[in-house]
Amino acid sequence: MARRKKIYEGKAKILYEGPEPGTIVQYFKDDATAFNAEKKDVIEGKGVLNNRLSEFFMTGLSQIGVPTHFIRRLNMREQLVRSCEIIPLEVIVRNYAAGSLSKRLGIAEGTQLPRPIVEYCYKDDSLGDPLVTEEHIAAFGWASQQDMDDILSLALRVNDFMSGVMLAVGIRLVDFKIEIGRVYEGDFQRLIVADEISPDSCRLWDIETGQKLDKDVFRRDLGSLTDAYSEVARRLGVLPKSNVTKPTLIN
Ligand code: UDP
Repeated sequence: MARRKKIYEGKAKILYEGPEPGTIVQYFKDDATAFNAEKKDVIEGKGVLNNRLSEFFMTGLSQIGVPTHFIRRLNMREQLVRSCEIIPLEVIVRNYAAGSLSKRLGIAEGTQLPRPIVEYCYKDDSLGDPLVTEEHIAAFGWASQQDMDDILSLALRVNDFMSGVMLAVGIRLVDFKIEIGRVYEGDFQRLIVADEISPDSCRLWDIETGQKLDKDVFRRDLGSLTDAYSEVARRLGVLPKSNVTKPTLIN
């Protein structure tokens, strides 16, 4: 059997050439990293959970008309996605203050923001993904004004969808990060939600107890990351509703 071609290996995922032109296989690793990969570990089952959770969120988005790169899940750790040109920005949406926003502006973590705030970081690990403004984005040509209008609208739609889905299972969506891809269709181009949406890239707090159910559990050594992600998956019905702590999959 021919060995498939690896296109890219990142901190949490590997991308392989897909079976048809214009497709990519996205493989979810168990590796967890934080603080620009200064803290690293292998968390058994994380990849399996994120593959399922990202499928769940991307499918839901597509059902409400938000275009995504997701095509179908292939197996426990892999999904087939549409290949796209990633815009070199991390698009962050915040509903409550936390993390770098709290540090930067001195706002206590957990403070509700007057409205969702969208921020952009330039995707460059060697620079630690610095915060940039629309001025930088336009001047350096990372995205056009039309792209920025579309990105803002996609980000806010993802925020409304994710906030609602989470609220329904007693979880507060504090903030999250998405990445946007560009696809070409004949003479036209459009933007789609790409990469992944999972507890690796969101802050999720239990509404009743404030318990963290996201990657901060790893960043801040707050307990088992697999237990936290399994709890999110269990509440969303992605895992069976028994007290499973191991990622047992349902079909
Ligand atoms: N985030 C991410 N990848 C990054 C940076 C941030 O997924 O490289 C997510 C992070 O999990 C959180 C949100 O974006 O949900 C806002 O992160 P923040 O700017 O507060 O940075 P942090 O405190 O994580 O360094």
